Amino acid sequence: MRDAAPTTIYLKDYTPFGYLVNSVHLTFDLADHATRVTSRIAFRPNPDATERTFFLHGEDLALISASINGAEVTPDVTDKGLTVDVPDEPFIWEAEVEIDPGNNTALEGLYMSNGMYCTQCEAEGFRKITYYPDRPDVMSTFTVRINGDLPVLLSNGNPSGKGEGWAEWTDPWPKPAYLFALVAGDLIAHPGQFTTKSGRDVELNLWVRPGDEGKCAFGMEALKKSMKWDEDVYGREYDLDVFNIVAVDDFNMGAMENKGLNIFNSSAVLASPETSTDANFERIEAIIAHEYFHNWTGNRITCRDWFQLCLKEGLTVFRDAQFTSDMRSAPVKRIHDAIDLRARQFPEDNGPLSHPVRPESFQEINNFYTATVYEKGAEVIGMLKRLVGDDAYAKALDLYFERHDGQACTIEDWIKVFEDTTGRDLTQFQRWYSQSGTPRVTVSENWADGIYTLTLNQRTEPTPGQNEKQPQVIPVAVGLLGANGDEVRQTEVLELTEAEQSFQFTGLAAKPTPSILRDFSAPVILEHDVSNAERAFLLAHDTDPFNRWQAGRSLAQDTLLRMILDDAAPDADYLDGLLAVLRDVDLDPAYRALMLGLPTQSELAASLFERGHTPDPMMIWTAIETLRQATAQHVQDLLPRLHSEALVDGPYAPDAAQSGKRALGSAALALTTRLDGGAMAAEAYGNADNMTLQLTALSCLLRARKGEAELAAFYRQWQHDRLVMDKWFGLQVAMAGPEATPGVAQSLTQHADFNWKNPNRFRAVVGALAMNHAGFHQPDGAGYALLADWLIRLDPVNPQTTARMCSAFQTWKRYDADRQELMRAQLSRVAETPNLSRDTSEMVSRILGA
Ligand SMILES: [Zn+2]
Repeated sequence: MRDAAPTTIYLKDYTPFGYLVNSVHLTFDLADHATRVTSRIAFRPNPDATERTFFLHGEDLALISASINGAEVTPDVTDKGLTVDVPDEPFIWEAEVEIDPGNNTALEGLYMSNGMYCTQCEAEGFRKITYYPDRPDVMSTFTVRINGDLPVLLSNGNPSGKGEGWAEWTDPWPKPAYLFALVAGDLIAHPGQFTTKSGRDVELNLWVRPGDEGKCAFGMEALKKSMKWDEDVYGREYDLDVFNIVAVDDFNMGAMENKGLNIFNSSAVLASPETSTDANFERIEAIIAHEYFHNWTGNRITCRDWFQLCLKEGLTVFRDAQFTSDMRSAPVKRIHDAIDLRARQFPEDNGPLSHPVRPESFQEINNFYTATVYEKGAEVIGMLKRLVGDDAYAKALDLYFERHDGQACTIEDWIKVFEDTTGRDLTQFQRWYSQSGTPRVTVSENWADGIYTLTLNQRTEPTPGQNEKQPQVIPVAVGLLGANGDEVRQTEVLELTEAEQSFQFTGLAAKPTPSILRDFSAPVILEHDVSNAERAFLLAHDTDPFNRWQAGRSLAQDTLLRMILDDAAPDADYLDGLLAVLRDVDLDPAYRALMLGLPTQSELAASLFERGHTPDPMMIWTAIETLRQATAQHVQDLLPRLHSEALVDGPYAPDAAQSGKRALGSAALALTTRLDGGAMAAEAYGNADNMTLQLTALSCLLRARKGEAELAAFYRQWQHDRLVMDKWFGLQVAMAGPEATPGVAQSLTQHADFNWKNPNRFRAVVGALAMNHAGFHQPDGAGYALLADWLIRLDPVNPQTTARMCSAFQTWKRYDADRQELMRAQLSRVAETPNLSRDTSEMVSRILGA
């Protein structure tokens, strides 16, 4: 049922729960449609609490019986939970409930996927398993007994007993209920072993369905590397005797860090060279690291309430980025992160869904697992590290682990360890957590009497609920280059704390060329009026790899905007600069491949809108196609050399060196296809012996409006493999021409293999439609209508995935009046759907600005 008036929850209203939990004992009697859950929970009054109402969360539960200290009680039960009178001293609460995992399509709580039981409790899924104070600041040890006739029965912690048809698990580390997990199924283990630096032997297992055994080796190695890295870099050791990972096909998110029993979307863990791309391997390595790192940043130290989500997510994303930088290439990782932030977080931060890294209110917490909380949250930690320095950062982290182990904490606790370690006042820095919107930094320069002055201005546009913005602390890393390209000033971090501030550089012989915001030192939009000659100079000479790439990116953006607005020809500075970079064999192939990338259509739409123009998706698409064609012709003579540089010796390995070469080869093949009509791509498809090459060749062919035979052959080859079939579905929508996109997506939703209740498959088609910018924004509104149809259909089945996909409409006010009206009408149609979920209802009303 839809709430008549949805409840908004506020950070300022936080109060501790009136009771503490000493221990939790759970017994599960598994049955598809009638699982019994018996709980025995020892409570005691919380001396720090003023409010003593005994309220336990519970949703979709059938209460069979309840007792306190062995005496039966009759609680007041609503659809949100129960209240009952309890003694003013320690007591034992016992309850038995029945639940229906077989009909749980929302994939929250205990549900079934291909005959296997599994759970997802973050954020508020545990209340669908039994009555409990389902809030992260209530922590307890758990003992779990599972009765069921499936061969593998898993829960958190260490195994503490086992027999025919049952298993018992004991987790000695107090945890909040959102970290609870249970898995039961017919699963096969890919085993491994790790010895911690203090000598604890840990048994590792990656559990998969029969048939997937061959896709486990990479994930297991990634886990061992993560365990070692966290010891070496953060001094954090693993703290149980076993660590289990389970792959599940039906999963709303990427993966979940349940204590000792991580549950993964199979797309985020299963990998083999034949079925996975280089990008898949890199993502899997990062997600395994991310979930493992949560054992300390999230599990041992958790969040006091869900407003503090960035405390665990921002820090853990930052840590997994450090890990990837160490395992692979730091500059390439930094560029990928900036591309991702601009593509996903900037539109959020500058539109109707804008919210602070630490939100101050929500209706449905599931709607705040956002790029702002995660990725901007990680950027905030990167800035903090840059401001205090590496040594102080390491000391502050040591203090954080020492002071807060076993606690549920806040952002204030986090900031305090930095203040205590450095003696620095971080009050102003905390605005990064409370102020929403992307700051814009404007640069002006002055050269007079041998003094070079950089003046930086900052401003942030109003965002929903925040009209007045205060200046933030922005670390701006700057280096200066001389006329011959030498670095006359190495990188230094300017601390911009005022609305406007000037920084002087003396002792220079001539006016330098500045390289500003090196290494993307802050998640801001830099506004600097620079000539294309100066950008080309930085593209040729900047010693900072990020800014060198950025110079090329800015040139590309500038020429695209002029092609769109003034019908200009592709810019020679850009094409010549690109050619010079591609020729430089001393540059990492992965880096050169990134140089060939262009701003996305959506980014160009945002840039046009910010400059006061109404973006026309078809004109943007045409400009990009024209520039790609011009690039192919301009670098034509170099392409054979790029193809040969991309060749790999020896067997396939998904490491940085090989995947960098393949990335360069893929970029070269895409350009070659524009010149030879797909001849080379067809040959490459026939010769491909790994998924990266196979998919690259197929996408080139589809982009050239060829490849029908290959598409059919691909289907025949891979129809048994659900993860590869997700790629088959997604690629057709991604590569469709703008006019054809809605029709292609529509017909794929009619395909026999389109299982719309599986989130991966749904995203592969409907998500890809929303990502194909010109196709989604077709002027007749067919893309909008198709998306809305599917949102309405999916909502009663899976509100979380539906709500998340509503964000495809978040930029609706950028476009012309006709498109705005078409999108508004579809949003209203979704909003007016009877019994719409709380998740989707909140998202749609925020996007509409209601
Ligand atoms: Zn996480």
